[in-house]
This record gives sequence, structure tokens and C-alpha cells, in this order.
Amino acid sequence: MSRFRMYPTRGQEQQMLLHCAHARYVWNLAVEQHSHWRGGRKSAPGFAEQCRQLTEARRDNEWLGAGNADVQQQALKDFAKAKSARFTSGFGEPTWRRKFRHEGFRVIGTDRVPEHNTDGSPKLNAKTGKQVMGRSVVLQKLNRRWAQVKVPGCGWVRFRLSPKGKGAELPSAKTFRVTFRNGQWHIAFAVIPQPIDAPGTGEAIGIDRGVAVTAALSDGRTLNCPQLTTRERAQIRKHQRRAARAKKGSPEKAAGYAKVAKLKAREVNRRKDWCEKTSTMLARTYDLVRFEKLNIKTMTAKARAKPDPDQPGQYLKNGRAAKAGLNRAILAQGWGLLRQRTGHKAPGRIEDVPAPYTSLRCSACGWIDKNSRKSQAEFECSSCGFTCNADTNAGINVAAGQGGVPRPRRTAGAGGATPRKGSSVREPQPAWVGIPLF
Ligand SMILES: [Zn+2]
Repeated sequence: MSRFRMYPTRGQEQQMLLHCAHARYVWNLAVEQHSHWRGGRKSAPGFAEQCRQLTEARRDNEWLGAGNADVQQQALKDFAKAKSARFTSGFGEPTWRRKFRHEGFRVIGTDRVPEHNTDGSPKLNAKTGKQVMGRSVVLQKLNRRWAQVKVPGCGWVRFRLSPKGKGAELPSAKTFRVTFRNGQWHIAFAVIPQPIDAPGTGEAIGIDRGVAVTAALSDGRTLNCPQLTTRERAQIRKHQRRAARAKKGSPEKAAGYAKVAKLKAREVNRRKDWCEKTSTMLARTYDLVRFEKLNIKTMTAKARAKPDPDQPGQYLKNGRAAKAGLNRAILAQGWGLLRQRTGHKAPGRIEDVPAPYTSLRCSACGWIDKNSRKSQAEFECSSCGFTCNADTNAGINVAAGQGGVPRPRRTAGAGGATPRKGSSVREPQPAWVGIPLF
């Protein structure tokens, strides 16, 4: 994905907001159609049928008919794609799009370019034998910093090339997506980044992802994802407080929340930028990158209230809040994005190592003991005395492809139960008899 900030004029902005409204309306119609479907009924209309219905709706509805047909049809196409990817995308069933929240639309290129096969020969239509012409977006580079794109009904809209695109060619894509969020317009081209060549040193790196240190590398380096500064966080709290106290529906309230959203967006941008730079660095410097396998979705599952050990029947007051705070901290690290982008840039050079006990295992002798981890940062092996930074130690374990032994399963497959064997952290210990024998 390459994404750039767009700078439309006032008039263009109005037109683009209208596109957003049309796209959202059409998308939500599709969601509604599909939400009526129940098992046993005739299947909900697919893309082709929906397009036919859209033509009819445009004829009957003046507001819809005045809009751009391509933009509306692309909203249906987006819906069809989201629907077919609902089991693999991680987003599940497509849901409602809300005003101010999910503003955006897709534009299909109007230029026609001959398509080619992977070997460079022209792609021919199997039936007619004619050259296949594909779509391409109309782009123009103005100078080193600026380029412009044709958006239906708006003419040329300018966007700023980010520094990394310096001297680089403009992305070639069939479609692009325009989004509006927090008062900013962005244009995104779906471009899969060129895989980065392996350096050929045969070097493998292990990465342990944590909250205190975002990524601890096995070579001893620690990388931290930039967060908001203390000052910025204080500003967020200030604006939140003021907005909460402002009168309902007042301009102060809206302005307060807009400021909060802007600061939060800054944090997200920082995180994304860091993930891009770090994943490029990893793909460029190492032949093999090993991540510990994490299931972020279950790790950040909502907390259940924990019972209070001191007062039976009562629940801990801050249990949920504490888990929510940890979840926020985990999501703020961008673990998933770092893994995903490294995977894009170094395809086939990524491995996921099962995670259990990577933080408790001694990277020198393999001994697994809870007591080896002295504190958040310190690791001192209780068997061989090896000392190291705890995160680096885990990173070395990951680099070696070593987790610990997987946790023994409580229940056996055929309904029987296996007996629990003491602590699962430690290896089997010699059994002590009452009086030591000499
Ligand atoms: Zn050891």
C-alpha cells in the first residue's frame, strides 16, 4: 500500500464528500440486503444482481442518480470483496459504515492500457484473440514533491509525494481509494511492495515483542515504537475533559473531540511509520527473521472480572480496567503490523516460532525456570548462572527457533483426564524421601 496525503480545493472537497456519502449509502444498502438473509432462504443478491438493482435505484432516486455511477458501483465491488474475504480478512462480516467515521470511496481508473502476461507477452482474449485492455488510473507528476490524480467530477486533485517516494516512479494501479478522516484526505494505491533481496549473509535474527520494549532483537538491540509524549498525552486529557464538560451539541464539544482525534491519529501515524521503517531494515539486514508466534486477538481479549482473593464473593475493582490498559499497551506496539509488513517485504524469509517459555528459558543451557527471571529486565539462569537482559534472552531463544516445551494438555483426547504433574514450568525434579540417605 502506498498512501499519500491529498490536498483538494474547497470545491473539490465538497464533491468528494458527496462521493463519500453515495459510497456509504450504497454500501449500507448492500449490508442491509445481506443482513436479511437467513439459512434456507434464497441467497442474497451477488455483485452482478446488485449492479442491476443499482441502475434501477439510480433511475428512481434523484439524489443517487445525480452521483457518479462508477463510485457507487465500486462501493458494491468493495462490498463483494469484503464479503468473500470475511473468513480470512480478520474483519469478519462487512458491517455498517457511519458518517464521519468511515468516509471514503474507490475510484476505478479511466485510462486503458494493454495488459501483459507475466512473461511479457501481450494478454489475448481467449475467445476473440484480441488484446486485453486493462484499467489504469490517470496520474501526473508535477514535480519532485507533488503529483495529481483525476477524480471523477473534480478534475485534477493534488497530492503530496512523501519523501520516500523521492525520484521513485508513480504507483501504477487499476484503482485507488480516497479516505477522509480527522480532517485529512488521503489517497491509497493497493500496491504490494517489491520484495527486498536477502543480503545473503546467512544471518538469522530473533525478535521478541513486548510491552516495555517493543522489539528486542537477539543481537542485543532494543527497538521502541514511538508513542505519544507525556505532553501530548496531557493535551489529550485536557481536551477530553473540556469536551466532556461542554454543553451538548455545542461547537466547543465538537472542537474538543476533534482535537483529541487529531492527536490520536498522530500516534497511529507514528506507529505505522515506525513499522514500515523497521520492517524494511529487518528485511534488508537479515536472511531469516524469526518472530515468536503470538495470538494478539486472544491476548487482547476483553477481561473478565477477577474474583477478589481477600473478599470471597466480591470482584476486584480494577481488574477490568487494568486489563483494558494492558490491551491498549499491546495494541499500541503495532506487533501485528510489524510482522505483516516484514512478511510482505521478505516473503519466504519469515518464521513464526511457538512462543511458550521463550522468556523463561535460558538461552545458554536451555533450563526453564520461573525463578530465572529476576525482574522485568533481568534474567539470571538458576541453573548455570548465565545473566542477560531478559528481553534479549527471549530474542536469542526465538532466533534459535526455540520455545519451551508446550504446556501439557489437561484433558486427554478420548474423554479421560491426564493427571496434573506439579508445576508445568519446571522440569521433573528428583523426589525427596523423608530422610536423606548418605
Ligand atoms: Zn542456563
